[in-house]
Amino acid sequence: MINLVMEDVKITNTDFNIPSDVLDEIQLNIQNIIESFDIPDSNKVDVIKKINFMYTQTKQLSITDALTNLYNRRYFETSFDREFARAKRYNSPLSIAVIDIDYFKKINDTYGHSCGDYVLKEVGYLLMQNFRQTDIIFRYGGEEFVVILTETGLNEAKIPLERLRKLIEDNLFSFKQNQIDVTVSIGVASNSDVAEPLDMFDNADKALYEAKDEGRNCIRSFG
Ligand code: GH3
Ligand code: MG
Ligand code: MG
Repeated sequence: MINLVMEDVKITNTDFNIPSDVLDEIQLNIQNIIESFDIPDSNKVDVIKKINFMYTQTKQLSITDALTNLYNRRYFETSFDREFARAKRYNSPLSIAVIDIDYFKKINDTYGHSCGDYVLKEVGYLLMQNFRQTDIIFRYGGEEFVVILTETGLNEAKIPLERLRKLIEDNLFSFKQNQIDVTVSIGVASNSDVAEPLDMFDNADKALYEAKDEGRNCIRSFG
């Protein structure tokens, strides 16, 4: 059995922009894996560091959307369950927003898919600029994004969401000499009177449909 001093081989979050609890979980897994290997003492630390780095990189890729660098849908599922349970336990407010680009198909059809991809990247960047460090942002699919706003009730959530809506409306989207008008519709819901995370997500989704029905480029809340 290798006598490991984990502090010697621990990698830090300067290399990976992932939450520290995820990084801790990874390092614990690594420790379990390498304890079953017989590594020569002379290069023990190097080998462990390399495995650690590769494993963390793989893990990071598995939770990231390649186009926007935001978290992906797979990571959303675990994150949302975790945040919902945490909020319930500590009796704290939690909100979720579903953000959908308006008439995105038309952008693809008019200017091409690479322009659509540019718009997705730029919207992803604006999302990252707009929210608190403690809020968690995901590309949920296609042209839909989700934000989990921790410690934030419904009315409080509307403030950064309205700021985002305006930020996107006012942003200059320009691709190969074309200027593209981009807006988003947003549905938001909170954890008050909700039993399951799925109900909360469905409520935000219903609110998004309302925002679409009522003319787009606006925010609607559930409840
Ligand atoms: P609405 O205002 O009702 O949301 O209309 P919409 O056109 O935005 O919605 P719709 O669901 O009709 O179209 C979404 C489009 O998003 C269709 C799909 O081809 C495109 N899309 C999905 N993923 C990507 C991607 O990664 N890149 C690009 N360029 N387009 C994508
Ligand atoms: Mg959509
Ligand atoms: Mg859309």
